Amino acid sequence: MTTQTYRIPLLYSHHHQEHAPTLETHHAKILNYPEVPRRAEIIRGHLLATGLMQPIIVETSMSKSDICQTLDAGMVDYLEAISRDMATLTTESLSSFYSLQDTDPAHFYRYPSVFPQRDRIYHSHQSLMGLHGYYCFDKDAPVGKGTWEAALYSATIAHQGAGMILEGHPLIYSLCRPPGHHASRDLMGGYCYFNNAAIAATRLLEKGTVAIIDIDYHHGNGTQEIFWNEPRVLFTSIHAHPDGEYPYFTGYAEETGGPAAPNTNLNFPLHAGATEATFLAALDELLAGVRAFNPASIVVSLGFDAFEQDPLGTFKLKVESYFKIAQKITALQLPTLLVQEGGYAVDMLGVLAEQFVNGMLAR
Ligand SMILES: [Zn+2]
Repeated sequence: MTTQTYRIPLLYSHHHQEHAPTLETHHAKILNYPEVPRRAEIIRGHLLATGLMQPIIVETSMSKSDICQTLDAGMVDYLEAISRDMATLTTESLSSFYSLQDTDPAHFYRYPSVFPQRDRIYHSHQSLMGLHGYYCFDKDAPVGKGTWEAALYSATIAHQGAGMILEGHPLIYSLCRPPGHHASRDLMGGYCYFNNAAIAATRLLEKGTVAIIDIDYHHGNGTQEIFWNEPRVLFTSIHAHPDGEYPYFTGYAEETGGPAAPNTNLNFPLHAGATEATFLAALDELLAGVRAFNPASIVVSLGFDAFEQDPLGTFKLKVESYFKIAQKITALQLPTLLVQEGGYAVDMLGVLAEQFVNGMLAR
């Protein structure tokens, strides 16, 4: 890569700002929702100030039919319907139906309350509230009036980034928000609505096989599920061990792929408190798997919540760890799409993103 002249396209949309839930529940506590708009703004502001990036503001969304190449049409239609329904709420309707202190419709988000076991449903059901739980695996995907546009443009940023890789770009940063790797084909959750990395990887299949490298602190359960039986996509992930960490039911090393795609799923669960040395050793093993798969392109699910100051994580990665991780990934010398996932030490996210980008340029 000609590091002196190549400015990395940074794809961004203002629509993410319209999605800003404020609360989540955790055991008996009500907490501030950590997946805030400022996350993307800090990364964008910091990266643009480095002069390394070429800013691209995405103004036109991808089509629903393109999204449904990867995701379930029922879920996609549902998110649009409930989000548009939220836009019809007024202060009066909220005051009369809910005993709320804050009756500003812009601050109101719907949370799923019933999670039906799909194999025990005897009647089809169409109410928006009922369907919310049908299309969620947990309570952490609240929907407000701006959620549809935010999720749609987040997916578009990833999809367009993949298109630019197909055109020959060596490196793209898709600054997606909300994140995506917990969402599967037909389930939302974990602050995720549409699986942006999976949508990008599906598009990249035009170029040949794809390897996804997920370095978010949490297991990318949604991405794993989407490509479980897809032999053309290798999903790899380093994450906190599911014995003690969200999403609990996936991320074990013995999950290696479906019958049509054996050994195309590589999980490296690490125990709480993992250090940089432990993480980098797992990454070396992961990258050996990627090399053996010999993909045409790479998608990095780029979470920053393995950082030592992250309020949701327990790992001990330092600022400079992100340079080292990127340096190892870029040594693959493959076209690489960076897709933003989590990271909640908000004030540090710009610094971590800069470290990662600098590492990627150190080819
Ligand atoms: Zn995470």
